[in-house]
Amino acid sequence: MARKFTQDKLVVASHNPGKVREISDLLRPYGVDIYSAAELDLPEPEETGTTFMENAELKARAAAKASGLVALADDSGLVVRALDGQPGVHSARWAVRPDTGKRDFAYGMEKLHQCLEEKGVDKRHAHFSCALSLAWPPSREEPEGHVETFEGRVFGVLVWPPRGERGFGYDPIFRPDGYEITFGEMEPAEKHDISHRADAFRKLIRACFENA
Ligand code: IMP
Repeated sequence: MARKFTQDKLVVASHNPGKVREISDLLRPYGVDIYSAAELDLPEPEETGTTFMENAELKARAAAKASGLVALADDSGLVVRALDGQPGVHSARWAVRPDTGKRDFAYGMEKLHQCLEEKGVDKRHAHFSCALSLAWPPSREEPEGHVETFEGRVFGVLVWPPRGERGFGYDPIFRPDGYEITFGEMEPAEKHDISHRADAFRKLIRACFENA
């Protein structure tokens, strides 16, 4: 049985204002005051984990320890079956152009396509994954603190060329199963309903926020 969240304050362990806003909206019905890692000037730990769950946990634990508040962190990315799970936890880094040192998803998508071409893969199965981790700060009773982590996924295939101007990251090459369009072409509300993040959030809310 997961631990319920019964506090009235929560820190979102992210320096990305868009992500903090999205999470605040989702948690509004539960009457929680949300703080961001930037607002509390919390350090950003290195993402040294080899799985989404490990990275979400280490970010949540670090923020909980530094703030003394319960902290929520996420980690996400794209997993391509024929590339042994790459880019996976390196999804953001995979899109960094060597010549500029800047992130460029047109480049990242092209690189994925080239890797799949070289392997001669025609069935391009992939999924997006999102881990959400809720960490309670260390206390005398629990010197290591406590953590609850949930993972959500959405399965599909990679298409080429990229399609659609909506979304972000790898959305234009990801066509979710059961749809003819890519995440890049989909209405944002529809994507938010079926995405890996939505799946992880539903699990988190059910386990830690409902009937708390
Ligand atoms: P992070 O979870 O903020 O570290 O981001 C991981 C990376 O995964 C992002 O920079 C994107 O490249 C990719 N990613 C995660 N979720 C999505 C999504 O919904 N669409 C497209 N790309 C995503």
